[in-house]
Amino acid sequence: MKKHNFSAGPGILPAEVLQKAAEACINFNQYGLSLLEISHRGKNVIEVFDRAEALVKKLLGLGDDYRVIFLQGGASSQFAMVPANFLNTKAAYLNTGVWANRAVKEARFYGETEVVASSEAENFNFIPKNYQIPANADYFHITSNNTIYGTQMHSFPESPVPLICDMSSDIFSHRFDATKFDMIYAGVQKNMGPAGATMVVLKKEMLDRITRKLPTMQNYRTHVDADSMYNTPPVFAVYVSMLTLEWLERNGGIEWAEKRNAAKAECFYNELDRNSMFRGTVAKEDRSWMNANFVLNNPEKESTFSDMLKEAGIIGLAGHRSVGGFRASMYNAMELDSVKVLTDVMKSFEQKHA
Ligand SMILES: *Cc1c(COP(=O)(O)O)cnc(C)c1O
Repeated sequence: MKKHNFSAGPGILPAEVLQKAAEACINFNQYGLSLLEISHRGKNVIEVFDRAEALVKKLLGLGDDYRVIFLQGGASSQFAMVPANFLNTKAAYLNTGVWANRAVKEARFYGETEVVASSEAENFNFIPKNYQIPANADYFHITSNNTIYGTQMHSFPESPVPLICDMSSDIFSHRFDATKFDMIYAGVQKNMGPAGATMVVLKKEMLDRITRKLPTMQNYRTHVDADSMYNTPPVFAVYVSMLTLEWLERNGGIEWAEKRNAAKAECFYNELDRNSMFRGTVAKEDRSWMNANFVLNNPEKESTFSDMLKEAGIIGLAGHRSVGGFRASMYNAMELDSVKVLTDVMKSFEQKHA
């Protein structure tokens, strides 16, 4: 039976990407060796990294004033690396969920950290607006999509200081002006590839702001200067990310992804709002296109609904362990048809159990 993968991360990848990734594990580019057993210093692997960087810049509309590097340690390591490199006197953060909170926690190891606004008191069910970004901060850090709660920033603030964003769960999902950002980072395993690599998009000027003495691996300059190859990089994860970016570009880029994601979100949220059995858990204007959180009005029927999901081949719909309920993650690779399978199950659940 066809499976419909609504997992929040690692997330769904396009079938053709998985096919090519599998082939590369056996015989990379007809080279007679597996991608997993060849040197990262070889020309054909360097080409993968160059192509991945070029595709990221092309898809995001960025020029030569930006660099793209691939690191390890997940987005979670970036929570510490950002302040280690850029927090000189004070940093400003928007607290919109568990991940944003973890970023704040790491910043505090390095210096004064001001949380300009937070939705924590409301269990992160909305995105704070109308806050002041202090003009004396070294940077302002935001989280564009709150994977665990299902909220998303549908517009970005004008920042008087460098703007840094954790885009782990909505990178490449909709159009936005990437030139407004001085740094964007994303664990690739949500919307680009397998676990193991973190993409960092950095405006070159940011490198001039690094003043703290840092261990070599913690310094962005090390990785920019070495083209992501100071140490052995996560070659396979970067290769699969490159394949996903090629797939995206071939299909029409971010504009295409945006149309598809809008159609999926509309399909899902229309059913959620219509259906008497369910309700959403976040402010409507801040609903995420990537992760849709919802609960049953009668929680006693959860196991009945879960059984119906299983019968339909729907995987990964359980909410994060910290919030419960359900969460439908609809990353770039998901087809509208899979969302329709889900909304059909929601409809028949209402018909049978209202
Ligand atoms: C998943 C996620 C993270 C954590 O990523 P790791 O690669 O596991 O460290 C951080 N931020 C956001 C927004 C996420 O969705």
